[in-house]
Amino acid sequence: MKKFLLSVSFALTLGAADLPYWIEPCERKETGCSAGDVELGRWALEAWQSASDGRLRFVAADRDHARLRIVWALPEEGLYGETVPIEVHGQAGAQVNVRIVDPGGGDRLLRDTIVYLTCLHESGHALGLAHTRNFADIMYSFQFGGDIAEYFGRYRRQLATRQDIRKYSGLSAADRAHLRDALRSR
Ligand SMILES: [Zn+2]
Repeated sequence: MKKFLLSVSFALTLGAADLPYWIEPCERKETGCSAGDVELGRWALEAWQSASDGRLRFVAADRDHARLRIVWALPEEGLYGETVPIEVHGQAGAQVNVRIVDPGGGDRLLRDTIVYLTCLHESGHALGLAHTRNFADIMYSFQFGGDIAEYFGRYRRQLATRQDIRKYSGLSAADRAHLRDALRSR
């Protein structure tokens, strides 16, 4: 497996506590999405929200008004994901492109792990977080050469059911601290 695309370094400027988001419904089957992927994206945003000590609140919006959009990318559109800046009615926004990577082998929870962690990593960029060299972090970059199968595998091993994804945020203590720093510095 290959590394995350290098993501753009920028941050959503959060004027208000509420951050409108939209996650593309799974309608373009050629992306390899399934209906439950919308929920995985939402859980990823909820994980950051929980880590923010109340400074961040995602609220569902329609696509046109959403400053953070999660979109399912086509296979040829990159590796796991990338985050690109967009403008939303004069305000800074971010579009998170997530490519569905099915590792094969019939392990549905591994596939869902990859979708969830990719949403989590890329939405971290949207919130202003940079890559780290620490393999324990969700913001770790594979460009530093870590074991990609283990990166996903260690999370997957915590799961007995899909609902367990809500129990294990995938964020390290350092990720949480970096988020709080990013929110404080605005
Ligand atoms: Zn990245």
